[in-house]
Amino acid sequence: MSRIRPFKAAEAWGRAGPEPGSDCARLASAPRRAGPASGARRAVILVVCDLDGTLAPIVSRPDRARVPARTIRLLERAAHAPGIQVAVVSARPLREMRRLLPVRRVLLVGQYGLEGTPAPPAARRERFRKRCRRLVLRLRRAADAVPGAQVEAKGLTAAVHDRAVAPRRRPALRRFLRRIEAGAARREGFVAIPGRRVVDFVPRGFDKGRVVKRLRAALRPAVVFYFGDSAGDDSAFAALNERDFPVRIGRGATRARYRVATPMGVTRFLETVARSRSNASSHKEVASCR
Ligand SMILES: [Mg+2]
Repeated sequence: MSRIRPFKAAEAWGRAGPEPGSDCARLASAPRRAGPASGARRAVILVVCDLDGTLAPIVSRPDRARVPARTIRLLERAAHAPGIQVAVVSARPLREMRRLLPVRRVLLVGQYGLEGTPAPPAARRERFRKRCRRLVLRLRRAADAVPGAQVEAKGLTAAVHDRAVAPRRRPALRRFLRRIEAGAARREGFVAIPGRRVVDFVPRGFDKGRVVKRLRAALRPAVVFYFGDSAGDDSAFAALNERDFPVRIGRGATRARYRVATPMGVTRFLETVARSRSNASSHKEVASCR
């Protein structure tokens, strides 16, 4: 597992890098390298955030999750800063993401890359939809045997939540799900991706790591920040290289090299990005990291 170091985004985001001086220098010069001389606006710093547990605090029921108004404002400000592209990738359907994140200029990627930018062709998604419907029937039969287990049919993927399941019943649910993973899900071409108090069933080949790789290929950023709070984000952390910043929110084993304690750490990071890229103090602020 990679080493974990504290990351105090509120103070200086560049400082978290393994080689603080060089990272700060690269970040400071990134917008200039993409500047008006090229005649085109292109992203040089890509900031990718997971949604639940990263931008929206975890609540007892997923349908009650909200992104704080301040976070939404900062996301939009960061997305408007020159040289910055912001994307949010989630297990949620795109329509829910749009409701939770009424923001412009932020790329929204739903259901592990099956919706939004970039998404597979419609004919392929239709095949996944049919398979997912069959899988949901199987998951509902298993969930019926465990009080509190909740199956969420999302169209292209399905989730089983255990937040309302008594702790002593959770091992039984996990056994059911493992059986389905090895049987019905496998036959339909789906794999299980664990999250926080949830297991998602997703068509094989789709995960957040793939999303990050595709965004990188399309936008060609100099550096990528990825913020995520669960095992479902590990594929994205693994897709980053040594110049990038994989940041885990909260406790738990992870492949990320950096960590913030709560979603507040992400908000502070966005604030720093928005501020440092939108006024003349950016040079001074970043220079102080060296
Ligand atoms: Mg999450």
